[in-house]
Amino acid sequence: MIIVFSDARVFDGHCAEIGDPRHVVVEDGRIREVATTRPTLSGALEIPCGQRYLMPGLIDAHFHACSPSWDIRSADRMPASLMACHASRILADALDRGFTTVRDAAGADVGLARALESGLIQGPRLRYCGRALSQTGGHGDMRSAEEGEPCGCHGYGGLLSRTVDGPDELRRAVREELRQGAHQIKLFVSGGVLSPTDPLRMRQFSDEEVRVAVEEAASRERYVMAHCHTDKGAARCAALGVRSIEHGTLIERDETARSIAAAGAFVVPTLSVIDALGKSGGGKGLPHAMREKLDSVGDGAFRAIEVCRRNGVKLGLGTDLFDYASHPLQSGELELRGRVEAPIDVLRSATSVNAELLQIEDEVGRIAPGMRADLLVLDFDPLRELSGFRDKTRIPVLMQGGRIVRNTL
Ligand SMILES: [Zn+2]
Repeated sequence: MIIVFSDARVFDGHCAEIGDPRHVVVEDGRIREVATTRPTLSGALEIPCGQRYLMPGLIDAHFHACSPSWDIRSADRMPASLMACHASRILADALDRGFTTVRDAAGADVGLARALESGLIQGPRLRYCGRALSQTGGHGDMRSAEEGEPCGCHGYGGLLSRTVDGPDELRRAVREELRQGAHQIKLFVSGGVLSPTDPLRMRQFSDEEVRVAVEEAASRERYVMAHCHTDKGAARCAALGVRSIEHGTLIERDETARSIAAAGAFVVPTLSVIDALGKSGGGKGLPHAMREKLDSVGDGAFRAIEVCRRNGVKLGLGTDLFDYASHPLQSGELELRGRVEAPIDVLRSATSVNAELLQIEDEVGRIAPGMRADLLVLDFDPLRELSGFRDKTRIPVLMQGGRIVRNTL
């Protein structure tokens, strides 16, 4: 089956120049040709774009498929079958918003990946990490301070995260996730907002533990993505070989940003989660200690992006949203980023840069011959109007892997 997107203004995922309208030919799930003259192909299905914009599908590099509510502690302990049903719906909704690829940051696993591959459920391409790894008392330890350890021999383990302590335990846990097909390993190396006992500025995991995880991931050409808010923590990540620094909300020193850039690491800001918890009321019911932690990251996030940009750090794009009421904010991440970055940089982050981060730059993130046909037709100019993504009805055609998910033209 050949499909031609005719007469489209193409943003190819990288180039800032949108030239004259092109005709993009899709065959067997991949882009075959980007033609300047209208090809004559008998039997091809034509999608006349009428000079609308065509771009690669969006990529969310910090996504949570297992995110039915902000009460992460309860989510972490729900029956796995119930969580799978939630994840199925949450993934389908993300695809509907134009996200054709997501990188999950805790909980999505080989089961969800298989369900997607086989067509049992619909959703974005999934890069998963399995369970996120936390030290005891770290961001992934969902126990309250009052909860004891009944037998003293097990740490904490839920659907999203588990605790591991010491290089040997860490090595085994990382190998286990990799055995189950994890595309990346998730560690928590600083405190976080939505966890009960860890101060935000706490250092988590020893250098040796982080190094073991990086080394094991590298043995399969995978890498570590690390939850990290603090400036010091981000510098430590760069020094220890962490490839993807998540949130990075308190990065403030040029020196830190330069070390991240020199290491070739990425920072993945997540403005949507702060927006959702702060303004939109999602965080109203937060316990006092979590509220305080939220306030301390809110202001820094935009500044951190500026510090990273001016020092040449590769910036991905992620959202980190939980709760059905907040999920629709996912597409607003581009507009939020546009407050401190040029639209072209934001669009690159959401497509080609994220693809490189996810190690799938030869597959997705660009419109070029041979790439998978993950394509969006927009009825707005993305270089002028990043807010357009917020309204999914302004994405009249949505294709993933050559399959038409939506066509309302
Ligand atoms: Zn997250």
